Amino acid sequence: MISPVLPTYARAPLSFVKGQGPWLETEDGTRYLDMGAGIAVNSLGHANPILVAALTDQARRLWHTSNLYNIPNQEALAERLVEHTFADTVFFTNSGTEATEACVKMVRKYFDHIGQPERFRVITFDGSFHGRTMAMIAAAGGEKLTKGFGPLMPGFDHVPFGDLEALKAAIGPETAAIMLEPVQGEGGIRVLPEQDLRDVRALCDEHGLLLVMDEIQSGVGRTGKLFAHEWAGVTPDIMAVAKGIGGGFPLGACLATERAAVGMVAGSHGTTYGGNPMACAVGCAVMDEVTRDGFLENVNRIAGHLRQGLEGLVASHPDVFDSVRGEGLMIGLKCNATNIDVINAGYEAHLLTVPAADNVIRLLPPLNITIEEIDEALRRLEQAAVAVEGNL
Ligand SMILES: *Cc1c(COP(=O)(O)O)cnc(C)c1O
Repeated sequence: MISPVLPTYARAPLSFVKGQGPWLETEDGTRYLDMGAGIAVNSLGHANPILVAALTDQARRLWHTSNLYNIPNQEALAERLVEHTFADTVFFTNSGTEATEACVKMVRKYFDHIGQPERFRVITFDGSFHGRTMAMIAAAGGEKLTKGFGPLMPGFDHVPFGDLEALKAAIGPETAAIMLEPVQGEGGIRVLPEQDLRDVRALCDEHGLLLVMDEIQSGVGRTGKLFAHEWAGVTPDIMAVAKGIGGGFPLGACLATERAAVGMVAGSHGTTYGGNPMACAVGCAVMDEVTRDGFLENVNRIAGHLRQGLEGLVASHPDVFDSVRGEGLMIGLKCNATNIDVINAGYEAHLLTVPAADNVIRLLPPLNITIEEIDEALRRLEQAAVAVEGNL
């Protein structure tokens, strides 16, 4: 008999009743060290008092009014995002995939607006992930996402990850944009080299294409910069943000330059909940924290320590681990053993990590995790590795 909850997830047999910082607690009081942070969402840890205060203060005053009216918290968050990024304007959503949808709708509207509606195709890299709506599974194109859901929405072309020659060759008279994750998340923490990112930007400029970046996972301090593209010193025209920006409250955003947003006017796009007072109260608190003096320096310091510890683990457990990759606190451990076995052994050691494609396990801890907690995570990961070795 089918479960009351549609069985679309292969869930671990675990559930939690409360959390604090990087710790999660089960009903019986067992504590797990959470190096997944709800898939890079709990950017400031569980039950962060600053976020709890922002949310409960707002909850006592006003939950929702709809976008029929001005929403001061939305304006405040948009101003913060505009101040700290390439963007001039922001559209708020409830989730990541709504943000990437808004990005692609904006691309199409832009070319329609400038009198080139025949340009609507978007090129993406293999292994990418942009969410689960009909358009976004077509955008990513992977078999696991699309199988059984055809016919797929037209307008997306796919090239091998990081293959700039294939990318060039795929550009045609109908091409409108290139959409990419600076660091692929679901695809296995694959970092697009900085030079590639600069070359893609140059290609877009040369061909009059818009560059769309999906920083839903890599953004909001995750890689040690506010946004991952800053490492390469180039900017997109349009960017999707979600996950970490809400710190655990559902919130997403589509950021754009004034030029790219030129076609979006009253009535072009909308959402009932997107950017509601509660979500934006939390979003403002997250932004204030992440852009605070010294916050990102600390992320980079912690990340360096984690990276060093992981390199040591890889060296001492070569049958389990192959290599470390990623940027900042967006780390992938490519495994030689089966990644799911390592993750399950982690559960036994009361450590939570997240699987990704390419036999990788992801470490995406809260950005404010301490060195001591990182050391504890490394000890537990070592314990998991030893257990996996024993079963090889
Ligand atoms: C998680 C994710 C999405 C989808 O976000 P949802 O909130 O699940 O819709 C899109 N792109 C990337 C890069 C992501 O990591």
